[in-house]
Amino acid sequence: MIDRRLLLLGVGAVALFAGSRWLQGDDVAAADSFEIKKDDSEWRRVLTKPQYEVLRLHRTEIPGSSPLNSEKRKGTFACAACDLPLFSSQTKFDSGTGWPSFYAPLASAVGTSTDHILIMARTEVHCRRCGGHLGHVFEDGPPPTGLRYCINGVALKFAPDAPA
Ligand SMILES: [Zn+2]
Repeated sequence: MIDRRLLLLGVGAVALFAGSRWLQGDDVAAADSFEIKKDDSEWRRVLTKPQYEVLRLHRTEIPGSSPLNSEKRKGTFACAACDLPLFSSQTKFDSGTGWPSFYAPLASAVGTSTDHILIMARTEVHCRRCGGHLGHVFEDGPPPTGLRYCINGVALKFAPDAPA
C-alpha cells in the first residue's frame, strides 16, 4: 500500500515537473528571441497604462478609440514601445472595424504566433524587436496580399513624412 502511494506520488511529481518545464521553456524561448528585453516593472515605467495593457498584456483597445483610425497622411507607423518602423501609410486601408488596418507590414518588422484566447485560433502579431503585442492578422484583407493586419492604434506611433 505504501509502495503504491509512493509510486503515485512519483508519477504526479514527474507530471508536474514536465508541465512546469514545458511552460517555462515556452516563456524563456519567447523572451530570449527578442532584441529588446525589459523586465515587467521597466515596461510599466516606460509605457502609458493603455500602451502597457495592449503591448504587454495582449489586451485589445476599444474599437474606434484610436486617433490613428482617421490618420490619412503619408508616413510611418512605428512600435510605441521601441520605435521600430512597422507599417507604411501606403498599406493602410479603412477596414471599417474601428482599428487601424494594413494589408502588409514593412520588411522584417513583425513576428506572428498563434493564440487561442477566443477558442478559435488566431494569428497574433507582435513587434519583431521588442515582442510587444500589436494585434492580429486575418485573411480577409484587400489586394495585393489579401491580408488584414488589425492593429491596436495605442501600440503605434505615427511619424508623418517630411514635406517634399
Ligand atoms: Zn517594438
